[in-house]
Amino acid sequence: MTILVIAEHDNKVVAPATLNTVAAAAKIGGDIHVLVAGQGVGAVAEAAAKIAGVSKVLVADNAAYAHQLPENVAPLVAELGKGYSHILAAATSNGKNILPRVAAALDVDQISEIISVESADTFKRPIYAGNAIATVQSNAAVKVITVRATGFDPVAAEGGSAAVEAVGAAHDAGISSFVGEELAKSDRPELTAAKIVVSGGRGMQNGDNFKHLYALADKLGAAVGASRAAVDAGFVPNDMQVGQTGKIVAPQLYIAVGISGAIQHLAGMKDSKVIVAINKDEEAPIFQVADYGLVADLFEAIPELEKLV
Ligand SMILES: Cc1cc2nc3c(=O)[nH]c(=O)nc-3n(C[C@H](O)[C@H](O)[C@H](O)COP(=O)(O)OP(=O)(O)OC[C@H]3O[C@@H](n4cnc5c(N)ncnc54)[C@H](O)[C@@H]3O)c2cc1C
Repeated sequence: MTILVIAEHDNKVVAPATLNTVAAAAKIGGDIHVLVAGQGVGAVAEAAAKIAGVSKVLVADNAAYAHQLPENVAPLVAELGKGYSHILAAATSNGKNILPRVAAALDVDQISEIISVESADTFKRPIYAGNAIATVQSNAAVKVITVRATGFDPVAAEGGSAAVEAVGAAHDAGISSFVGEELAKSDRPELTAAKIVVSGGRGMQNGDNFKHLYALADKLGAAVGASRAAVDAGFVPNDMQVGQTGKIVAPQLYIAVGISGAIQHLAGMKDSKVIVAINKDEEAPIFQVADYGLVADLFEAIPELEKLV
């Protein structure tokens, strides 16, 4: 049994979600190969070769993969993947962009967002916004799987010494082209990788008031997230959204401020180790999942908390 893991990267560094995906592969068992598809990815391949448990790194270094357009990467993965028992990618925007195309090309079902491995062919995945967990068994010859990073503790980034092999195949489907990107610049940690997340909801009232959360987050070394209501109201950009249709986070500490606790929000954060809720409504459902709850006006509580940190 050999498993192919698609590395998540930006042509420079391996994204942390790759380590969680390799952890899922290790639970399945067997040899683990990692595919690095991109352009100028020498450093990424080197880093991937050091990941604990990886025996081989395949490097497809080509202009066609420079921006990892799924139209180009998917045919590459489908071609290479035929020889594997499993193909895994993190359930990130990128993984979710590529793997369904791979599954279609291989004529198999995709198994989405697994949170645990029961055996080589049986996996658990949340459904109904995390309110039920389905156990899925697959008899597909190649199992195409996206992995919810929060379900698996990452393997060590160092310690391995995998062989690195170049892959010549270049697929340029010619049906899409990269136009540009606008990257949010922030000195704060990335939301899905942060150990502490401070999130604000509709209770923040406007975008300017998020400055209170930024100040607290900076003292805590935390990332800042938001509910969908806060995003839809234009308080903050949508890459900050936590929840069913946003990002899934499971930090050591999640502080929900002025967030009611709708199931779609809980779907994105309820696996956090410690949950703190600050809400002026003692009946707010967020208190049902919170380890610590403070019934208070956030505009008084947050500045006070910031002073104490
Ligand atoms: C298909 C679908 C997908 C969705 N996906 C997501 C998702 O990914 N993420 C997400 O978050 N939501 C999602 N939603 C929306 C979700 O149902 C809720 O509408 C949303 O989470 C509510 O956001 P909120 O808690 O900020 O706002 P509200 O529910 O309006 O809650 C605001 C809270 O702030 C408190 N508050 C107000 N003022 C103060 C104050 N001064 N001090 C302290 N507390 C105060 C109030 O008591 C209240 O509890 C989705 C909905 C659907 C239908």
